[in-house]
Amino acid sequence: MIYLDYNSTTPLLNEAKEAMISAFELIGNPSSVHSYGRKARKELENARDMVSEYLDILARNITFTSGATESNNLIINGFKDKVIIESTAHDSLLKAKENFDSIKVNEEGLIDLNHLEELIKQSDKKVLVAVTLVNNETGVIQPISQIQEICSKNNVHLHVDAAQAISKIKLDYKKIDSFSLSAHKFGGPKGIGALIINTPLELTPQIKGGGQEKGMRSGTENVIGAIGMGAALKAFNFDWEKLQELRDYLEKSLLEISRDLVIFCKNAKRISNTSAFSLKGIKSEIQMMRFDENNIAISSGSACSSGKVKTSHVLKAMGIDDNIAKCAIRLSMGWHTTKKDIDAFLNVWSKFYSTEIR
Ligand code: PMP
Repeated sequence: MIYLDYNSTTPLLNEAKEAMISAFELIGNPSSVHSYGRKARKELENARDMVSEYLDILARNITFTSGATESNNLIINGFKDKVIIESTAHDSLLKAKENFDSIKVNEEGLIDLNHLEELIKQSDKKVLVAVTLVNNETGVIQPISQIQEICSKNNVHLHVDAAQAISKIKLDYKKIDSFSLSAHKFGGPKGIGALIINTPLELTPQIKGGGQEKGMRSGTENVIGAIGMGAALKAFNFDWEKLQELRDYLEKSLLEISRDLVIFCKNAKRISNTSAFSLKGIKSEIQMMRFDENNIAISSGSACSSGKVKTSHVLKAMGIDDNIAKCAIRLSMGWHTTKKDIDAFLNVWSKFYSTEIR
């Protein structure tokens, strides 16, 4: 099987797996005062320290959650005043709340900074701005320093969905007001993540109960998951930039097969492991099935939980024609990807092109 879907989830790193296997021996609840509880607490806090060290942020600013979806929901729903969200953001931001203002993007998927400032200025309430730093569908990287500048100039809290950014782009994370992450995007386990709040803001917790995580997120902590996440970050040493060469090779080869191919966000700064493109003719879900039959896992970039494919809101917000958007697919590479994998993909793609599209 050739796995080209790292943006959906990455394979578990061995170091994370081993750390979790050992952690299964822990029997205490981290909130219990007896020695078993204290041992579990120690391991949980050790995991928090590993996350804080990797990101160079304060450990006390970390709230463990079940992942970026929960973290994004906590910020958006927990904030009571005006929320402004980028129109190509991940659904966990866009669907968290009904009422919000939407920031326009250009045809390359980049935020319209003038529109952002206009929306902030229009509001007479306190404002929170939320953006997805690296888009999971297109790989486009938002101009974070300019966004930060606008927000800080206007005294606005900036929340960043950094699910696809952690381990991929270097950033001074302690300077971001708040951000979300999910461990399974960098070789950690699924179902664990964090919300990091560097600049305090008034937030209503969404999960109430025993008051764990300083009251921000009740419920017994996912100790094993947190240990896996900490271990993944501690061990992480893959340089995603190395994939640029393979991505360039893929896109050049695809364009040689057909000049009609549309590569999304090609002229913007993108993360080097991602390529999203479309050739009018065959719908995304049919292509995905065909590739799957050939043992190649790719994505349309917008699969929802039911596994169905819907036309991407990201491409729509970028003004991409519907007939092009519904044929879009995404390849996202990672540490196991080789040129052989890309050649296998290109092989199947050329067959497609000559038999079904042309
Ligand atoms: N934000 C982005 C940019 C993502 O790519 C994802 C996962 N596809 C999420 C948020 C949500 O992460 P999770 O499903 O782990 O909660």
